[in-house]
Amino acid sequence: MMKCGKNHSDLHHRNMNANLCRACWIKRRFNTVISMIIFRNKYWLLLVFLLFSTILNAEEWIEVTDVYDGDTIRLMDGRRIRLIGINAPEIRHDNRNGKYQKAEPFGEDAKQYLTNKMIHQKVSLEMDQEAKDHYHRILGYVFLPDGTMMNEKMVEQGLAYCMPVSPNIRYEKQFVKTQQIAMDAGKGIWKQIAKNSSQTYIGNKKTKRFHTLDCPFNKHSLPKNRVFFNRIWDCFYNGYAPCKKCVVMP
Ligand SMILES: [Zn+2]
Repeated sequence: MMKCGKNHSDLHHRNMNANLCRACWIKRRFNTVISMIIFRNKYWLLLVFLLFSTILNAEEWIEVTDVYDGDTIRLMDGRRIRLIGINAPEIRHDNRNGKYQKAEPFGEDAKQYLTNKMIHQKVSLEMDQEAKDHYHRILGYVFLPDGTMMNEKMVEQGLAYCMPVSPNIRYEKQFVKTQQIAMDAGKGIWKQIAKNSSQTYIGNKKTKRFHTLDCPFNKHSLPKNRVFFNRIWDCFYNGYAPCKKCVVMP
């Protein structure tokens, strides 16, 4: 027992505590009660913190109700999700001028594959730096309950190619590696890309897009950011995506 430092020869301390006078005993009891309150509150605060962090970190699982094409889906709550980091071939559709556009090779296959995998499945979303594009679509990585990320799965199957859009480039390197494996295996769209075609393209290191030599967009890239490829195969193999204006996909 600690000594309180007071004169313990007075009568008070004998009734209260062998070593403490009344004033010190009261002070000590008071401190003990305060300590207990703080101690208990600390645990309450910890519990509240854990509860909130669990809620915030909880994965939201929501059903897929529509698959529009090989890289866009709709969720039960109406959100339209663009699977980012990739681009799947177009399906047949009417363009903005109302003109009929036929499907690109493997466009319908990509949609069918994504439909088989995702329709009426509950999925979770992971966002990158920017959550929406200018079409008000949600930009995300979409996961199945078994942990499969469908963005990468489409690349793995050769039903989409890598199309990094800064700043949403968290998985860019991973997707390019997956694409190289799909290309080497000749899966999906890679069956129709000739390895021996000899046309020169200019890649823009900043945008990760490649263009034909006469594309007007080349003037937007600084010479130090240009890289030349002699085959369309090499453009894709290095993770560059085709310019929509100048490159005609085989
Ligand atoms: Zn171009």
